[in-house]
Amino acid sequence: MQSIKAAVCRAFGEPLVIEDILISPPGMGEVEVTLDAVAICHSDISFASGAWGGHLPAVYGHEAAGVISKVGDGAGDFRIGDPVVVTLIRACGSCPSCAGGKPTVCETPYDTVKGPLRTADGGPLEQAMACGAFAEKVVVSHRQIVRIPETLPKELASLLSCGVITGVGAAVNAAKLRPGQDVVVIGAGGVGLNAIQGARIAGARRIVAVDMSEDKLDIAKEFGATHGVLASLEQPWKAAHEALGGRGADAVLITVGAIPAYDQAPRYLGRGGKAIMIGMPHSGDMSSYEPVVLAALGQGMIGSKMGDVVIQRDIPWMIDLYEQGRLKLDELISGRWTLSQINEAIEDTKTGAAKRNVIIFDEDRGSGGSAA
Ligand SMILES: [Zn+2]
Ligand SMILES: [Zn+2]
Repeated sequence: MQSIKAAVCRAFGEPLVIEDILISPPGMGEVEVTLDAVAICHSDISFASGAWGGHLPAVYGHEAAGVISKVGDGAGDFRIGDPVVVTLIRACGSCPSCAGGKPTVCETPYDTVKGPLRTADGGPLEQAMACGAFAEKVVVSHRQIVRIPETLPKELASLLSCGVITGVGAAVNAAKLRPGQDVVVIGAGGVGLNAIQGARIAGARRIVAVDMSEDKLDIAKEFGATHGVLASLEQPWKAAHEALGGRGADAVLITVGAIPAYDQAPRYLGRGGKAIMIGMPHSGDMSSYEPVVLAALGQGMIGSKMGDVVIQRDIPWMIDLYEQGRLKLDELISGRWTLSQINEAIEDTKTGAAKRNVIIFDEDRGSGGSAA
């Protein structure tokens, strides 16, 4: 086993601890990726706060990009030196969900505690979300990674592994928007902005952003929102209906984990519309709605994990969109930090003002880092 630096969660709600940990070489079907960048996602913060349970100690981090440094047997056509995006979607490729085109809900269990990570003294260490990317290296399945162009900066590529695919995928794959449809996006944070640009790319007619912050509504318009509604209004859905010419939306994309957003979402819907549930509330939180209205108006509520993406299909498409100037990535980054500053970066993300904070690993490792 090899010793690397990682940010370890030792106790829920406490700052992460930078320590040396051990990582195994890649096994069957796996690769080792030396990371250049990892972004901080609200899911990492929810896990570190204990909102979703899980084992401790643990290494979080799942929005990463880097260069392959070791290749195990049976890892497809990946080679040492390939630049890649690393995702948390560890799909087996053959269960009914994978075979049916939904690898985001793969049914084959993977034991994250028996994964490649150990503490310095050889004790158990959870590879959270099958990634453990708050570390210099990860060992993951080759099905979790996608090769990217050498020219794509890793800090931008890292955003593609979660926030971008979740938001754009929710609009395109889950809501299956058709050109000309009207969309409401609740929450204009990291995922919300991507849901907005996904709706724009899908050809939506009007895109109404709903958020608590005026500043975020302004940013939402830069990403393609045609209207902004303050969530603090007493009945914000009425303002949304007004923006949509008096009717409800064809799709409402709920990108925040707040229960009031879930409770209110059906009110934004038009006849035949559907609400897409993307934001993740804490375990045990409950929402309520009036089933008779949904039944009578032919509406639906649908859960979407990771934008229902097929990474090998959707990430190359999104890279093309970026290179063609049709998908914003640079504008999503609000701060760059080092691994030793990770707790400050997390605190900054918690304030809600940040878009994406990205940890940039050492530039002097000679692996093509793109630190700015
Ligand atoms: Zn994420
Ligand atoms: Zn599977």
